Amino acid sequence: MQAVHPCVTSACMCEQPCYRTGLPTADSVIGAGIGGSAVTYFLQQQFGPQVQIDVYEADRVGGRLATLTVNSQQYECGSPSIHSLNLHMQDFVKLVGLKHRKEVVGKSAIFNGEHLVLEETDWYLLNLFRLWWHYGISFLRLQMWVEEVMEKFMRVYKYQAQEYAFSTIEGLLRSLGGDHFVNMTQRSVGESLQGIGVQQRFIDDVISAVMKASYGQSVSIPALVGAMSLAGAQGNMWSVEGGNKLVCSGLLKLTKANVIHARVTAVSIHNTEKKHLYEVQYEQEGTLGSDYYDLVIVAAPLHKAGYPISFLNLQPLPEPMGSYHRVVSSIVHGYLNSSYFGFTDPKLFPFASILSVDTPDAIFHSLESLCPVNVSVGFRRKPPQEAAVWRVLSQRPLDRKELKTLFKSYYSVQVIEWQAFPSYATAGSSKPLPPIILHDGLYYLSGAEWAASSVEMIAVAAKNVALLAFNRWFEINEKIDQQDLLHKLKTEL
Ligand SMILES: Cc1cc2nc3c(=O)[nH]c(=O)nc-3n(C[C@H](O)[C@H](O)[C@H](O)COP(=O)(O)OP(=O)(O)OC[C@H]3O[C@@H](n4cnc5c(N)ncnc54)[C@H](O)[C@@H]3O)c2cc1C
Repeated sequence: MQAVHPCVTSACMCEQPCYRTGLPTADSVIGAGIGGSAVTYFLQQQFGPQVQIDVYEADRVGGRLATLTVNSQQYECGSPSIHSLNLHMQDFVKLVGLKHRKEVVGKSAIFNGEHLVLEETDWYLLNLFRLWWHYGISFLRLQMWVEEVMEKFMRVYKYQAQEYAFSTIEGLLRSLGGDHFVNMTQRSVGESLQGIGVQQRFIDDVISAVMKASYGQSVSIPALVGAMSLAGAQGNMWSVEGGNKLVCSGLLKLTKANVIHARVTAVSIHNTEKKHLYEVQYEQEGTLGSDYYDLVIVAAPLHKAGYPISFLNLQPLPEPMGSYHRVVSSIVHGYLNSSYFGFTDPKLFPFASILSVDTPDAIFHSLESLCPVNVSVGFRRKPPQEAAVWRVLSQRPLDRKELKTLFKSYYSVQVIEWQAFPSYATAGSSKPLPPIILHDGLYYLSGAEWAASSVEMIAVAAKNVALLAFNRWFEINEKIDQQDLLHKLKTEL
């Protein structure tokens, strides 16, 4: 390791050789979703404010954190909720001066296409009793399993606070939960829950509905991603007042990043005498341009339906791991047809969201009454006898007949088709997770979604990439891929 003076993040005026003397001159980030915005912030934290960061965005800042407008009010139409234990997101919200949106409670139910199989009530104990009555102690086993996964996942914050980084996603997961965590990216959630004694009926009725609502996929998705969505289903979720996407624009503003509204078409490597330089080629309003960087972070999922990026003279080429799964979000302003769910009198329909059991003829994955991104004091959720804004998630756009099945009448329907999540079944259980290091100074952040697709997982991956780039740039090798970190940190403290 080179001898450097550890004046890393303060404005350094020292005359000794120090981190600041060999800083990269320019970095670039491709994509301004939460991954791109977070890595821009973390890179600046590591390398300091002198490093110029260009952020390329082909579409809109925020990516899958997005809103749309109904009757002059905005509603979340992409990723709506964040778990209370998502500590990077909690930090970002404070850093950029945002706040949590006021919580508006609402009950859920699960529908099997004919009737409701499980209904939440206002009474916690009654809910527990119902679960026990229908499914024995399966829900307790599930809860313990999810808690154990979350507890291990939370170790990452400790490691990252001490600036430890990992050069592979498998390495990061292994540091958190040993080989068991890596295996959880290969074994299905259904199989894993059977393994701990959860009843098949509970998996069919409840777990399958949660997986469909969260990822549009079945209980064959990997156990790690399944556990994270089950943690969300247990409550403690929040969202950002004004819209989750404000975190992205806020971080980019805070770092004074240079946001370039352009689509990156290619990245190529140029070898100079001393180092590698990366040329980023882009297209902006029909004009082609390019620029050179020391570090390039790809914070956009590489899949066939995305904006394609060619990697020139790079061996071996990063291969997309599989396809992304389409989920259609229909934002409907109208009157719910509560009779379809067995409530002929809409006034008696008590639910804010309905999840659908995973059956071949299910027309929707989930249906939820939305609150606007700004919730004023005294706001109340609209009862079903009034026109409200509903979000329906489905596999394909709803046709007129399906809309008429779910709604008595409606004023408007806005449809967004998302390439929403990795299509986990296309990855195959034996394929390794995507690489993080594509070349010396070229990193791929979004591959972490193949381990678990969530806003916080991407924020964790962003911090890991920033730490890895920094530690590799300054050859701080003892902070990369350390084994047995849990034990090491315990003895250090
Ligand atoms: C309907 C839906 C519901 C969800 N619900 C939740 C939830 O409740 N909780 C949760 O934690 N997660 C949820 N997610 C997942 C979450 O939204 C994603 O994991 C997360 O937002 C991914 O962030 P990202 O920055 O990696 O990718 P993105 O948000 O996709 O950002 C990538 C950006 O890169 C840009 N880009 C792509 N290619 C190029 C190029 N060639 N040149 C320039 N720019 C490019 C894109 O335009 C995009 O803005 C949901 C997702 C969807 C779609």
